[in-house]
Amino acid sequence: ATPMSVMVGVGKAAEAGILIRNGEALQTASKVSAMILDKTGTITLGSPKVTDVLVASEYDEQTVLQLAATLESGSEHPLAQAIVESARERGIETTKVSNFNAIAGHGVEAKVDGKSLLFGNEKLLRERQIELGNFIEKAQELAAEAKTPMYFAVNNELAAIIAVADPIKDDSVAAIKRLKDNGVRVVMLTGDNRATAKAVAEKVGVKEFFAEVLPEEKSKKVQELQMEGEVVGMTGDGINDAPALAIANVGFAIGTGTDVAIESADITLMRGSLHGLADAVAVSKATLRNIK
Ligand code: ADP
Ligand code: MG
Repeated sequence: ATPMSVMVGVGKAAEAGILIRNGEALQTASKVSAMILDKTGTITLGSPKVTDVLVASEYDEQTVLQLAATLESGSEHPLAQAIVESARERGIETTKVSNFNAIAGHGVEAKVDGKSLLFGNEKLLRERQIELGNFIEKAQELAAEAKTPMYFAVNNELAAIIAVADPIKDDSVAAIKRLKDNGVRVVMLTGDNRATAKAVAEKVGVKEFFAEVLPEEKSKKVQELQMEGEVVGMTGDGINDAPALAIANVGFAIGTGTDVAIESADITLMRGSLHGLADAVAVSKATLRNIK
């Protein structure tokens, strides 16, 4: 495209809340054949809320939330914020946490009041050889409702399941449909468990998804699709998404996401809506048409 038509295109996109870093990104956008979408904060709002607290017989909700919120007060993960917020809403006071340890893509652990607390996904608790008993079935039911169940253990014994739900953005379904109608292969990627991922993917009409993807594995997925011959777009909001955004043919950051994601991306969707993806493709197509 001529420098002039690229300038016009970048300006048009900016009016629609789409910030394009360079002319190359604008020209590649319409060639994207596969779009990878992160789940949390990209397809969903990224502000999970506690929906269910299921406790083992020796525990009560109050105690579990007090301990879990104390543990999570050391974490900056959106899931942690949901736990802390839910305790605060119920007027539960938290104490200080020492020896806090975040296990990326899995959960958190710490010592609180002499108790060792562990909170995270099924994989983490299995690795620590904690009996999950009939909580497994309950967790599966919650996951089938698109909720994320997390397991909470005290001194290596399961104390509760706490589930959170992160609402899907109002327009994600329509925006994803536009991409598919344009012939784009849409793939969802998430660190969340398989059953929850499946439920969300079904709700938004995405057939292909990868769950339980560790933070460092996200960019590998981009490369895999590139090796299949796809021109890959990656859309994400988190620190975890940054390497994948950088390596994709076109990286799209959610404008309400983290600074690291925005800095790693070629295009930023200021409005946070996934409609920005099909909009960017449309501007890109118009720009390329102008040169021919
Ligand atoms: P996502 O890509 O969905 O943001 P992550 O890779 O950050 O997910 O985490 C994957 C899973 O690990 C979460 O779904 C959750 O079960 C568990 N996990 C991660 N961080 C925490 C935390 N601070 N507290 C509890 N569980 C966590
Ligand atoms: Mg995210």
